Amino acid sequence: MKTENVISGNSKVVRNINRSMILNIIRNKQPLSRTKIARMTRLNKSTVSSIVAELINEELVFEQKTSDPNVGRNPLDLSLKLGKYFVGAISIDAALTRFAIADIDGSVLGTSSIDSEPKKPVEFLERCRTELDMLCEQLNIKNLEGLGFSIAGIVDSKNLIVNFAPNLGWEDFDIGKVIKELWPNIGILAVGNDAKCSAMAELWFGTHKLNLSNFVFLQIGPGIGSGIVVENKILDGELHASGEVGHMVLYEGGELCICGNHGCWERYASDRATVKRYIARKNGLLDNPTNLKIDDIIEAAKNNDGIAREVLTQTGYYLGLGIANIIKFIDPHVIIVGGRIIQAWDFVYPEINDVVKKRAFYGKRRVISILPTSLQIRPRLLGAATLAIKVIFDDYKIMF
Ligand SMILES: [Zn+2]
Repeated sequence: MKTENVISGNSKVVRNINRSMILNIIRNKQPLSRTKIARMTRLNKSTVSSIVAELINEELVFEQKTSDPNVGRNPLDLSLKLGKYFVGAISIDAALTRFAIADIDGSVLGTSSIDSEPKKPVEFLERCRTELDMLCEQLNIKNLEGLGFSIAGIVDSKNLIVNFAPNLGWEDFDIGKVIKELWPNIGILAVGNDAKCSAMAELWFGTHKLNLSNFVFLQIGPGIGSGIVVENKILDGELHASGEVGHMVLYEGGELCICGNHGCWERYASDRATVKRYIARKNGLLDNPTNLKIDDIIEAAKNNDGIAREVLTQTGYYLGLGIANIIKFIDPHVIIVGGRIIQAWDFVYPEINDVVKKRAFYGKRRVISILPTSLQIRPRLLGAATLAIKVIFDDYKIMF
């Protein structure tokens, strides 16, 4: 009896791995025929057909007549079926919390936002539920298959715990317990670090025609975080804290950082640092320096403000220093940058490129691509949706 269970368990595992493999091939290569899937997966046609029948039955994929004139005997192509399963996305940082509803291909149907109130996390998450309900109602969506959260902080995604989010004031916060109570009817609840979510969104839905099996997504905001993808997987780290590149020390004894150390990279290259430098350079000439945002400086630079341009060029230099270090650590194929700073790419990139060429060892021998994100939706928000979508595609449905 016990042996039988093990065998049936294993066959289920294999079947579910095959299911996930086929579903992901359809996602990436659609539209395509069963024959092509069989060729790509090296599974026999009857296995492919049986799994495809299951996916059609679940309404995750659909079949239609192929447009390819070379396909003769079985002129049917498979594609993802949209409009059936939806996921919610909630992206939380210290200032603003954003919401989105997405389909399984990452297309976003609607978004909204509220001010973050992280000091009372339970009440705040209750407000998030109300806001998400309202968004679903507006879009006439009755059920969500999954809900993903991206959070500015160190997150244990497996156990749904926010280990440390200094900007939110959350430490060892069991967010899983709260969200399971608030959304008891949603089967998939996922939580992740925002920069890792951004990397995942780029990996799944980015439109750069590049090999993304080894890349680093750099998220530049008030601080600097990163999602490191090694061989198609997000590097999580022993304590889920990989990619905290904003706190690598560039200048020993430099400016004091919120982490308690001096001279961290984000004290020089983040949006906050850029704003601070600009205010200092303007030296009392600004009307309302406390409300100044990175967008204002970018706008000023585009309007020929010489100081704004110089400050952004300097930010490019500091960004280059850190990026050169990252290239030395990881040896990625590409670095992708997200955040408001990409609106100033023409000002920052030449400097980044110059510093990287000089400082990253092989910068002299080959060109490393450093590109702004290809995503049109905020990466960390789409990343929250991707966390939940990923589970739909990876769901092995193993029931022992
Ligand atoms: Zn630091």
